[in-house]
Amino acid sequence: SQESLSKEECLQLRRKHFCPAQSVSYANTNPLMIMSGRGSRLFDESGASYLDTRNNVCHVGHAHPKVAAAVARQAAELNTNTRYLHPKLCLLAKRLTETFPKGSGLEVCFFVNSGSEANDLAVRLAFARTKSRKIVVVDHGYHGHTQQTIEISPYKFDHKGGEGPKPNIHKVPCPCTFRGPFRGPDASEKYAATVAQACQESAEGVAAFFVESGMSVGGVILPPKGYLSACYAAVRNAGGVCVADEVQVGFGRFGEFFWAFEQQEVVPDIVTMGKPFGNGMPLAAVVTTREVSEAFHNGLEYFNTFGGNPVSCAAGLAVLEILQEEDLQRNALEVGQYIREELQKLSRQHQLIGDVRGQGFFIGVEFVKDRSTLEPATLETSQICSRMKDEHQVLMSIDGPNDNVLVMKPPMCFSKGDAEYMLSDDYRRDGRREEDRYEDDRRGQGRDDGRRKEEYRREERQEDRYEDERRRGGAGRRREERPRSRSREAA
Ligand code: PMP
Repeated sequence: SQESLSKEECLQLRRKHFCPAQSVSYANTNPLMIMSGRGSRLFDESGASYLDTRNNVCHVGHAHPKVAAAVARQAAELNTNTRYLHPKLCLLAKRLTETFPKGSGLEVCFFVNSGSEANDLAVRLAFARTKSRKIVVVDHGYHGHTQQTIEISPYKFDHKGGEGPKPNIHKVPCPCTFRGPFRGPDASEKYAATVAQACQESAEGVAAFFVESGMSVGGVILPPKGYLSACYAAVRNAGGVCVADEVQVGFGRFGEFFWAFEQQEVVPDIVTMGKPFGNGMPLAAVVTTREVSEAFHNGLEYFNTFGGNPVSCAAGLAVLEILQEEDLQRNALEVGQYIREELQKLSRQHQLIGDVRGQGFFIGVEFVKDRSTLEPATLETSQICSRMKDEHQVLMSIDGPNDNVLVMKPPMCFSKGDAEYMLSDDYRRDGRREEDRYEDDRRGQGRDDGRRKEEYRREERQEDRYEDERRRGGAGRRREERPRSRSREAA
């Protein structure tokens, strides 16, 4: 069976059947083989548990019972392409568009399977709407892995092995006020002026401005206030459309806002989304206005075999419900704020911490060797990330053009207890094994004096609901198959 393959056998098969360009995390030290997950925890083949601060796909938590049950139920009923009417597809469009600001006009949905597909389609929509081919993109941005989306991703075309920008692509600086070219109080205007200038550079006008409302691979950058509204005005003035790539930052991650663009008080013409939408099921979307979609309705049919299939839609509907039921946006706001405050305190003790920034559960710590020169502490960042995994079983990631920004984009259920565990050294000095501590915590008897009791009660209630669903016919994972600690298995 699949479980009977050892880690070494997996590595060998991986070497034989895959291309090295398909990278594995921690490949140089000790890659992980993850077999199961629960909430903010991941478990390897030996049952050892890791705290996941980096997975922005399993948005409402790993293996969420409600998502699993919804997917299983729908898969047992029907999964096919979107040539037929299906209630889940229509309901998802209704529920999704209700999340946008009232009066935004963002009401037409295209369901696709990945963020790349969504951005690829957004390029086509922009071309159809404007007849221009010029696209303005922000430096270090990433929008996808298809040919078209690589062409709008400086992170790829400027990188080793990339082919540089095509003539129709105009790159503007990333609006980073920590180490970018403009840092003072007028940074917003100056960065926006680079967009206005790019729009005016040629007579053909502009098709689109592609921008994330918080730059992810760019190193967790929040544009200065007023940046997007000035950029959007310039782009529209030149006849272009504004595309908000919310693949990483959408669905409540910013805490205060469901969509990250709302923080900048703008309304895009096209919004693209993916990753968190299906909690791991392939589900992504483009949402736009009637006006833009009408231009696309030019005789060329749009058909996408898997886009919006009923099983993915079932996952999407469950995710939207869980976000509300479990008040996860508020959790992102409160726990995110707590994490940043604690990191600020750490920065007073550690000169290496150059900057702590972010919003909600979109958090970055930039490490520098020298706070005045801002020389990036790239090696140290990589060592910190590896040690967090090897010594503390905490999974984190690194982004930014200098690979010196430690990134936290945890699942939205990441609790205050998880945050304390991540931030505090004490938790790892008590000599207990990770999985024992987790089990104690689960029972509410851990060293946190029951702080997590309510969480576990909530989880138990979910498990009970899940069990009920299963009995009613939903094919779910059996209770016995849930992650266990080694200690419990031995008992
Ligand atoms: N846009 C952004 C901002 C992303 O971060 C990513 C993926 N990291 C994509 C688009 C592409 O999404 P996918 O990998 O689902 O194709």
